[in-house]
Amino acid sequence: MCSPDVTATVYEQLARRRLGRRALVTAGLVTAATAGMVGAVGSPRRAVAHPAGTVWDLTHVVDEHFPVWPGSRRFAMRTVADNKNNDTGSLGSLLPQSIFYVNELSYDEHTGTHVDAPAHADPDGITVERIPVENLTAPLVVIDIAARAASDHDALLSTADIDQWERLHGRIPERAFVALHSGWQSRLSEPGAFTNQDATGVQHTPGFAREAVERLVHERSVVGIGTDTLSIDAGRDTSYSAHLAALGSGIYAVEVLADLHAVPASGATVFVGAPTHAGGSGGPARVLAFSS
Ligand SMILES: [Zn+2]
Repeated sequence: MCSPDVTATVYEQLARRRLGRRALVTAGLVTAATAGMVGAVGSPRRAVAHPAGTVWDLTHVVDEHFPVWPGSRRFAMRTVADNKNNDTGSLGSLLPQSIFYVNELSYDEHTGTHVDAPAHADPDGITVERIPVENLTAPLVVIDIAARAASDHDALLSTADIDQWERLHGRIPERAFVALHSGWQSRLSEPGAFTNQDATGVQHTPGFAREAVERLVHERSVVGIGTDTLSIDAGRDTSYSAHLAALGSGIYAVEVLADLHAVPASGATVFVGAPTHAGGSGGPARVLAFSS
């Protein structure tokens, strides 16, 4: 058994080689006890061995530097009570002494790894707290277009990509959640590369083709779709055809997913911890994948 120090060092070496957490779990190097040691803002944080299988965290860590949709407010956190420095802050009148640590958060709903509820793009769509819980757990399908997106930043997940996935893995199961893996996560460390705007402000980022969304919704009955970029639409698609096709059909989306390179293309189950603020258009979510 590795000591925590040894485990963390090996993890960092492996992470630098981009082997991902799945390899670490396979190698027995990441455990529930040590996984929390290796987090960093913006980076995926952990896959852990579980008595019944493996759990992957598909959620990014966010701070004020995390990329947001151009023009949107960035994440912000303000400490209102600090029990390390004996500062009760604005809670001073409520607390006899500084026992607690409390922050105030501010962010737009579409910040970090987050859900788009149907209402985000459909005035008649349901809001985030009304997404049925049975739709928030689903078979996870990961369609990988990272190789193409590396050279074509405007790459679209097409119906041909769905065909190719089904040739390899069989028909997409009913009521699945289909995630687009574009490899965009690796661009988080490079300022400006995640939004990838050109001189005119147009973003060049991969997304779903409208026809692919329509097939997933109408012929495969998916409950949701997701992506590792800021939008299920390609950045240059200012008609937002994927949003309209998906959310307009009543399914939800999850954007800015983490670690899609590490989860199996088929066979895992995703759990989307959608927020429950009444009337919300979406919001930050904890997203986990599990495989036995
Ligand atoms: Zn969104």
